[in-house]
This record gives sequence, C-alpha cells and structure tokens, in this order.
Amino acid sequence: MSEVVPPPNGEKKDIYSILRARILDLQLPPDSKVTIDAIAREMNVSHTPVREALRQLEGDNLIVKAPRRGYRTTSLLNFDQLRELFELRLLIEPWAARSAATNSLSNPSRALSSELEGFLRKRDAEDNIRHSLVTHDMQFHDHILQASRNTFVHQAIETTHSHLHLFRLYPGDWTGEQTVGEHRLIAEAIQACDPDAAEQAMRDHLMGAYYRFAGAFEKHEDVGPRPVPITQLY
Ligand SMILES: [Zn+2]
Repeated sequence: MSEVVPPPNGEKKDIYSILRARILDLQLPPDSKVTIDAIAREMNVSHTPVREALRQLEGDNLIVKAPRRGYRTTSLLNFDQLRELFELRLLIEPWAARSAATNSLSNPSRALSSELEGFLRKRDAEDNIRHSLVTHDMQFHDHILQASRNTFVHQAIETTHSHLHLFRLYPGDWTGEQTVGEHRLIAEAIQACDPDAAEQAMRDHLMGAYYRFAGAFEKHEDVGPRPVPITQLY
C-alpha cells in the first residue's frame, strides 16, 4: 500500500503558514530563538522545508537570521517605529486614494466594495476575526495602491509589511467596526470620483488607526512623548 505524500510545495506552504500564524498570535514570542531542528522534529519533516519557510518569513521581516545566534523572531515595533510607519503611510496613501478616485477603468471601487462585503460575511461567521481583519485591511489598501499605477509607491508600502507588524503589535480594533466604517467612507469617495474626499477619508482612517495602535503603548511606563504624525508635508 502506498502512502499519500503531500507535494513539496504544499509542505513548504503549510510550514510557512503555521509558523507565520504562531508569530502573529505571539505563540512564538517576539525576539526569541527559533530552532530548525525543533520545528523539523515537531512537524516531522526534514530541515530543508523548515529552512525555506524561515527564509520566506525573513522576507516578511518576521524572522531575522543573526550571525552566531541563528534564527530569531523579530522584535515588536517600538513607539517611534509605529510613528515612523504611519508618517510614511500618511505621505503616500492619501495621495494614492486621490489618484484612484478617477472616472476611469482603473477606478478600484468595485474591488473595494467586494472586499468589504467579503470581510463582513466572514466576520459574521467567525468567532475570532483577527486573521480575517488583517487580510481584509491588507487587501483593501493594496487595491488602492495598485490603482495609483506607480510601482515604486506600491513597493514602498509593501516592503514595510506594515499589516503583519501592526497586527502582531496590538489588536487595535477587535471587531473591525471602526475600520469597516472608515473603509466605507474611502470606498464611497473613490466610487464618487471625488479626489478631495478620498484623500481626506484616507488621512482620517490612517490617523484613526495610528491612535488605536498607539493605545498599545499606554500600558507601558516608558511611553515617552507621543508626537503627532506629520499630516501635511506638501
Ligand atoms: Zn485600513
């Protein structure tokens, strides 16, 4: 009798997905050692697919390989990094929303509405919506960045892996209620081809998200000053 052997790609994807979920849920704590041998033993696979999964996670900036220290999970964003991340997003994404709000075939409003509806269906069906919320947020913003038709703009945001890091930092909006309300306003302005409203709605959303995530630091004593992100540089 022959055994069913999963295809190598499937095996690789599973290890990657399992480890990524553990890092995002903090089951693998930030800045802690990850041992190839232990994972390989636990998952009953060879070292090679584990190494490949760790390389992918390095690409997501969730794992870092340090000389003589091996693989470790990356640290959580600190408060300054959170502010810097939102400063970058505030420079780029309101502009992208404005660019997307045009009467043309590249207007992403259909994709934005179906993304919103899809998330609401999942939200009603699931108890724990954290994973669906981060995927929805990532895709919603991605549609708008793609509609800007500027590869460098798209890459600048993509390389920050901001959603993965924010998600790991703090579940800023457990139900997704505020996020959905703010996304709706952005989608409506883009659908109405109203660039001013689209830019403003994106700025308001990012400011709202920034303060929700900044709430994660209120528990710590060494929060320090809480500078407001630059909202208008041009
Ligand atoms: Zn969002």
